[in-house]
Amino acid sequence: MPTPIPTRRDATVEPVSDNEADLSSQPGGRDLMKVPLVAKIMRSRWYPGILQVPVAAIFGLVAYQLLAGPATAQRNAGTALMWVLWWPVLPITFVVVGRLWCAVCPFGAISDVVQKWVGVNRPVPRFLKRYGLWIIDAQFLAITWSDHVWGIVESPWGSGVLLLLLTTGVIISGAFFQKRTFCRYLCFLGGLCSNYSRSSVVGLRADTSICATCTAKAACFNGTPTQAGCPMFNFPRTMDTSANCTLCSNCIKACPNDAIQLTTRKPMSELWFLGKPKVEESFLAMAIMGIVLIQNITMLTVWQDLLSWIERTIGITSYPVIFTVAFVVAVSIPVALLALAARIAAASNLETTLMNFARFGYALIPLDIAAHVAHNLFHLLAEGSLVFSTVASLFGAAPVSAATALASPSTILSLQLLVLALGVAGSAYTIRRISHRRYGSAARRRSTTVPFMVLLGVLSVLNVYLFLLPMAHRM
Ligand code: SF4
Ligand code: SF4
Repeated sequence: MPTPIPTRRDATVEPVSDNEADLSSQPGGRDLMKVPLVAKIMRSRWYPGILQVPVAAIFGLVAYQLLAGPATAQRNAGTALMWVLWWPVLPITFVVVGRLWCAVCPFGAISDVVQKWVGVNRPVPRFLKRYGLWIIDAQFLAITWSDHVWGIVESPWGSGVLLLLLTTGVIISGAFFQKRTFCRYLCFLGGLCSNYSRSSVVGLRADTSICATCTAKAACFNGTPTQAGCPMFNFPRTMDTSANCTLCSNCIKACPNDAIQLTTRKPMSELWFLGKPKVEESFLAMAIMGIVLIQNITMLTVWQDLLSWIERTIGITSYPVIFTVAFVVAVSIPVALLALAARIAAASNLETTLMNFARFGYALIPLDIAAHVAHNLFHLLAEGSLVFSTVASLFGAAPVSAATALASPSTILSLQLLVLALGVAGSAYTIRRISHRRYGSAARRRSTTVPFMVLLGVLSVLNVYLFLLPMAHRM
């Protein structure tokens, strides 16, 4: 059965609640397809395959090390490459090149191969289209919970099992469903990628004036006899977000009219122009904020005192139960605070609490990214030497028993606070831009902006406070 093409209605800006509001769409910057080198790379038949090969080789090494290498995390190259290098660097790439990681991700490649060999290409089930993001939200929370209860990061075997589970999901999805169903609707990492990629400084869109006269039967979406169409179910003609675009360049190669543009844009600007905000995406943004909070809290030296306090308060000694209490509270705080701000704003801006929750959750993505990157800076700079020592040990060097910091604690803290400051500024500016775009009257803008700015202030202070406390190494 052919995949239905997303309609223009799916991507149009919904009616605004104020006649004077700004309905303009996101302006494009410089079209990088006019840069000969970029155009040559994007049109090359070797792209993105030439990047997939080394990534797949490193993935194989990581998987082998996790499952068959040293049992201690400090000596395992797989653990160091995965959790000390790849995971901290990944969010930074989203801001620069959007979801490009997904174009070279080995899971996507596995899905493509399975599909080619044994795929039955069934359409994406309706419930996945409808609830896929909630499934991703649940996975994200479940994996973080499992990490702390079963020690996935500290256990090479645990990380290996996580990779095996993901691989199994990818194989099943590739065998049964069309295109990259797993990447679009099921991958927890894809959920993170899609949220963060909205902040990227490049965006792929079609020139709709060219598309309006196109007779190529949506070649960008469907493909041609020699070129596959969009694997992520995007129709560039109506696409208004980079959330699901991996910059794989299939559409560029398939379009006979050279209508696809790769434009530069202001970081985060997509967040200001979102036409159809989704509650589940805003929920994910808040859940990630909660996850960063709990990740920070569990690395603090006061964590053991907090566990003891919860144990005394609820009278249960089981660690999974105690951690679950702390986890639920930490994740609930940002979600509840956003709901409260949305409720206050809804009282005066003529939109529902749910719509305010959905719309302004995106405004906190810059702070989300900043808190995530700042947290990971600790792993990268305080534990980064493990990448060198564990990889060197594969070539015969003597293993080390503990990480040596690549920067002093004060340098790491300064960088963390700088990144947080950028995130706070980005979120504050985004709140202001969304308000100004949606609401025409100054009073409505003010009554909408104030509660979300207060929320941003509370979350910022909470993050800064946690980063100021001494952290312990996880590895
Ligand atoms: S991007 Fe190209 S193939 Fe797709 S609708 Fe526009 S002109 Fe047609
Ligand atoms: S829109 Fe184009 S570049 Fe983006 S995922 Fe689809 S085919 Fe690839």
